[in-house]
Amino acid sequence: LATARRLARDGFRVVGMDRSGDRLVPAMADLAAEGLDATALVADVCDGESVVAALDTQLVNATRDPLTGLLNRRGLELWVNRSLRSQPASLDFILIDLDNFKRINDTHGHRTGDNVLVAAANRLTARLANGGLLARTGGEEFAVLITTSEPGELAEAMRAAVYEPTDPVRVTASVGVATLTREEIRGDAVPALIEGLRRADIALYEAKRAGRNCVRWYSDTMDEDHDPPFPPDTGRTRRRR
Ligand code: GH3
Ligand code: MG
Ligand code: MG
Repeated sequence: LATARRLARDGFRVVGMDRSGDRLVPAMADLAAEGLDATALVADVCDGESVVAALDTQLVNATRDPLTGLLNRRGLELWVNRSLRSQPASLDFILIDLDNFKRINDTHGHRTGDNVLVAAANRLTARLANGGLLARTGGEEFAVLITTSEPGELAEAMRAAVYEPTDPVRVTASVGVATLTREEIRGDAVPALIEGLRRADIALYEAKRAGRNCVRWYSDTMDEDHDPPFPPDTGRTRRRR
């Protein structure tokens, strides 16, 4: 049930049926009673426990990053898919990449690097406003997606949240921001995700170029310095450095 609750908080609708298919299983009924709006994913189960077990193995493991507990790229796709159903006016992408992280690993070891990553993930989670989503999209890279608010303030808050002057091992973050309008989204989740991340990645590159530990916004004039959009195969293959 805890798993189902966490999924529901992430915006998934949690559905459980008994074997006959005509009765919500009790655990799921509890969720509904708590007013959790739940999308999703489970059928063909026989009782409450097997629902949670099914969610755990098939869904949670497939959508969560084990180190930080954040959603991964697959989880991000599910979230975007769901969010676009409500036809948001825009979808904002904030891409956060830890600065000079390789140096932290090289100097303090991989274990310390992992701890720094987890601390950064926790700080970003604490700063995230309701209604948004935070995912780990790469080794030391995180993405925030929001549909409900103006992203500039949040992007700056996310950047500031990563750095803590009293940490024994300090780290800063560079941030790229991009927005897709409703017209640009056109209801297609995966292409929207690829394009939004592509733009935010270009802005992030500009933040790195500007000296790191800063926020930059995507503009289409930046495209001219970069590879063409939607390269062959899966999209986001452009190398930054
Ligand atoms: P930049 O400021 O340009 O982003 O430099 P950087 O060193 O952060 O970037 P680079 O891409 O050169 O190195 C990223 C490093 O992150 C290399 C990789 O070993 C490390 N890394 C990726 N995933 C993990 C992880 O899960 N744990 C640890 N400890 N390190 C990781
Ligand atoms: Mg980095
Ligand atoms: Mg990186």
